Amino acid sequence: MKYFLAIIGGGPAGYTAAEIASKAGKDVVIFEQNALGGTCLNVGCIPTKTLLYGAKQYYNATHADKYGVKTEGVSFDYAKMVQRKMKVVRKLVAGIKQKLNNEHCTVVMGAASVVSRNDEQVLIACGEEQYEAENLLICTGSNNFVPPIPGVKDNPAIWDSTLALDSKELPQSMIIVGGGVIGMEFATLYHELGVPVTVIEAMPTILPNLDQEVVAILLEKYRKAGIQILTDTKVTEVQGNKVLTTNGEYEAEHILISVGRRANMQGLDALNDIEIYRGGIVVDEFMRTNLKNVYAAGDVTGKIMLAHVASRQAEVAVGRMLKQIPLQRIAYNAIPSVVYTNPEIACIGLTEKDLNEIKEGDFAPSMSTDEPFVPYEVHKLPMTYSGRFVAENEGETGLCKVIVDKRSKTIMGVHMIGNPCSEFVAAASFAVRMGYTVGEFKQVVFPHPTVGEVLREVIAEL
Ligand code: NAD
Repeated sequence: MKYFLAIIGGGPAGYTAAEIASKAGKDVVIFEQNALGGTCLNVGCIPTKTLLYGAKQYYNATHADKYGVKTEGVSFDYAKMVQRKMKVVRKLVAGIKQKLNNEHCTVVMGAASVVSRNDEQVLIACGEEQYEAENLLICTGSNNFVPPIPGVKDNPAIWDSTLALDSKELPQSMIIVGGGVIGMEFATLYHELGVPVTVIEAMPTILPNLDQEVVAILLEKYRKAGIQILTDTKVTEVQGNKVLTTNGEYEAEHILISVGRRANMQGLDALNDIEIYRGGIVVDEFMRTNLKNVYAAGDVTGKIMLAHVASRQAEVAVGRMLKQIPLQRIAYNAIPSVVYTNPEIACIGLTEKDLNEIKEGDFAPSMSTDEPFVPYEVHKLPMTYSGRFVAENEGETGLCKVIVDKRSKTIMGVHMIGNPCSEFVAAASFAVRMGYTVGEFKQVVFPHPTVGEVLREVIAEL
């Protein structure tokens, strides 16, 4: 049988594509070597958020006094937290299996590799079998990057995020190399469970790609709480449990390396003429590679390594294969991102740094030479402008910052810190995606009392 579509990789990109194409009546075969759900469901977003939720319950219980709640003798069972994490993962993976359980979708568990391709078909091998398809969608994801630092390789003290999530025992102490998203989420988990944490970041700041005013609030809180955060610090060598840096030596039971991920090109050797840029497969706006009928979606494209980007890319790719009208495109300018620290950080759109770096020609130049090419205004309020925030976030101030185009008053970016901003950043995403102006956004009614009202409050002042 010749399939309409073969998909390598069953993560958010792969399973989304398989579901859409098979539900449209096209025969699909999807290959997965580990477990459906990919990194996100099995060793990424979901297990991390499950453990973080457990840690937050413990942390809140031990800090309940400020809410008038007396707790004594509170303790936690980490092995049970890990067990619960596994239960959550199993449940969600079963949900994916269910979604793909239809007559047009064949799920093959095993490592697939491309045997050959031409403009009419692609041949894929998995185990003893070969599969023929009209189109190929590569969704092989990414792997943790292991930096070439002496002493890292084959060192039992070194963990990556997968090993950290697998461990049924909490480390006695932890050094985290890389203060990016993974690093800061694990710093939160371990700190809230009482583990001494040191974060070592090479750049002058943690979370370097985010709004730095928001990051500064997190940094101040975490440092005050006792997390040791070293910035501008390079790791030169690891000797067992000891980390040698440009800023002194540090020791911990485990060392978590979280310095980014790299596209996974496993099984793709036969596609030796596929275009690659900085390790990721190059795709156009419809997720097409330079090879006819070969598409790629998700982390393997090396674009923005987020599950929600992967699934949207998959929708766009399948829409193009099915020649759906109107053809869909992905709006990379309107991708929200959340960091599950405590407090949470949630962002969408341009930062001030982005705007200051925009080069002539990227946008229409403004009239004044002193101004950045997109003259912008920044408006902000502490989250305490929301009654619900004050009621629930004792001792926190939070921040909600909105960036608008000075000329058109279009909302270009929203950057927030404060719980639970991850839950209402979608409202800001909607505004940025649809190109709403301040005037249009003001017509939207937010329920009261909610923390999200702060967003409307900032915009209402404009
Ligand atoms: P990242 O790119 O977010 O952060 C890596 C950090 O390591 C950077 O701050 C970088 O400056 C630093 N670094 C690099 N080399 C270093 C070195 N030798 N010493 C010290 N610091 C060094 O990568 P990540 O945190 O590993 O996450 C990987 C991917 O997974 C990212 O694309 C991320 O967005 C995604 N992710 C997203 C979420 C979420 O959406 N909540 C959660 C986890 C991971």
